[in-house]
Amino acid sequence: MVVAGCGVAGAEFLKSYFRDVLVVSPDHRLVCQALLPAYVAGDVEEEELCVDLMPFFENRGIDYRRCRVFSVKTRCNTLFTKSTNSSESLRGVGYDFAVIAVGGESCTYGVKGIENTLSINNLEQARKARKKMESAKDVIVVGSGMTGVEAAYELSKYCRVTLIEAKNRILPLMCERVSSCVEKILEKAGVKILTSCRVERIEKGTVHTSCGELNSDEVLWCAGIKGRRLPGLKYGNSGIKVDESLRVNRNVFAIGDCADVTVNGKIATKTALEAERQAKFVAKSIAGRTSGMYRPFSTLDKPFAIMTFGCRGIVVAGNLVLASPQGLIYRIKRKIMENFLKKFEA
Ligand SMILES: Cc1cc2nc3c(=O)[nH]c(=O)nc-3n(C[C@H](O)[C@H](O)[C@H](O)COP(=O)(O)OP(=O)(O)OC[C@H]3O[C@@H](n4cnc5c(N)ncnc54)[C@H](O)[C@@H]3O)c2cc1C
Repeated sequence: MVVAGCGVAGAEFLKSYFRDVLVVSPDHRLVCQALLPAYVAGDVEEEELCVDLMPFFENRGIDYRRCRVFSVKTRCNTLFTKSTNSSESLRGVGYDFAVIAVGGESCTYGVKGIENTLSINNLEQARKARKKMESAKDVIVVGSGMTGVEAAYELSKYCRVTLIEAKNRILPLMCERVSSCVEKILEKAGVKILTSCRVERIEKGTVHTSCGELNSDEVLWCAGIKGRRLPGLKYGNSGIKVDESLRVNRNVFAIGDCADVTVNGKIATKTALEAERQAKFVAKSIAGRTSGMYRPFSTLDKPFAIMTFGCRGIVVAGNLVLASPQGLIYRIKRKIMENFLKKFEA
C-alpha cells in the first residue's frame, strides 16, 4: 500500500488502515488548515496548528519517504517520485494499492500576475504570508469563500482590508442568509467589500479589476481550490476523476481535496470533514467491510461548515444557519480541531 500525501485525508486513512504501508509526502506534519487565517494574522502559533506525524508512523511501523509524487503510471502500478531537496531523477515506487491524497492548489482562472499574490493553502505559503503581513497596512483579499471571509476578518484586526468577490454577494456558494450575516460581521470589523468585481491582472502594489485599479501593500489570493495535478491521472471539473466508490481504477483511490467527488450528481465540498469521511470509506472498502458508493455529507448544494470570526461562530447546514456571538461555536470548532490533531500524537 502506498499513500501519497499525509494531510487530513492521508493521515485519517493511515489511522484506519493497519497493514504494510509506505507514505510518500514532502512534509510529515499534519496541518490544521482551518487555523491558517488566524495564524497569518499572528493570533495562533505554529505549534497550535500542526502535529509531527513521525512518532505516529514509528509506533505503527509505517514507512515514510520525504518526496513528492511526480506522476502515476496506473498500467504499471507505479508512482514516480522526486526528492524535495535535490535534482535527483525520478524514482519508481511499485504498489498493489495506492491512495492518492495530495490535496489541492489555488484556482487561478488564468489571471495574470498571480506570482505577485500570497496564499494560505499550506503552512509554507502561510509562513510567507504571515511575514509579509507584519508590515502591511492595506491588504486586498481576493475571493470570498470560507477562507477569504475568515482571512479578511482576522487581518482586519491589524490592517485595512478590502475583500473582492466576482459574484454579486460574498460566500456565493452558500445561502443568502449566510452571506448577509457574514457581510454584517465583516462590515462591523471595517472590511470594505466589493462584489461583482472581477480581478483581471495583478501587478506589485496594484490590482486591476473590472471596477478599476486598487492599490494595496499585499494581495491574498483565496479564490478557490482545485485538486493538485499529477500527470498520468484523468481530471474532472475539480480534481482527479474518481467513480462513486472513490476509485481511479481497481487498485487506486483518490480522496480529499485532490479528488473530484461527485455521487448521484452531488458534488462533495473540499473540506476537512469530507476528506476525513472519504478516508474512512476507502479504508473500509479496501478491508472489504463496505462496498457500493460513497455518500458525501457536505455537498455544494447542501454544504456543512463552521466559520468563526473572533469569538463569533456560524454553523451552516444547507439552508439552516446558526449564529452564536458568545464564543460557543468558536470553542466547539477549536475543540474539534484539537481533538483531530490529538489523534495523531504519539
Ligand atoms: C485556509 C484554509 C482554511 C480552511 N478551513 C476549513 C474549515 O474551517 N473547515 C473545514 O472542514 N475545512 C477547511 N479547510 C479545508 C481543509 O483544510 C481541506 O479540505 C483538507 O485539509 C483536505 O485534506 P487533504 O488531505 O485532501 O489535503 P491536505 O490536508 O492539504 O494534505 C495534502 C497532503 O499532500 C501532500 N502533498 C502535496 N503535494 C504532494 C505530492 N506531489 N506528492 C505527495 N504528497 C503531496 C502535502 O504535503 C499534504 O501532506 C480549509 C482550508 C484552508 C486552505
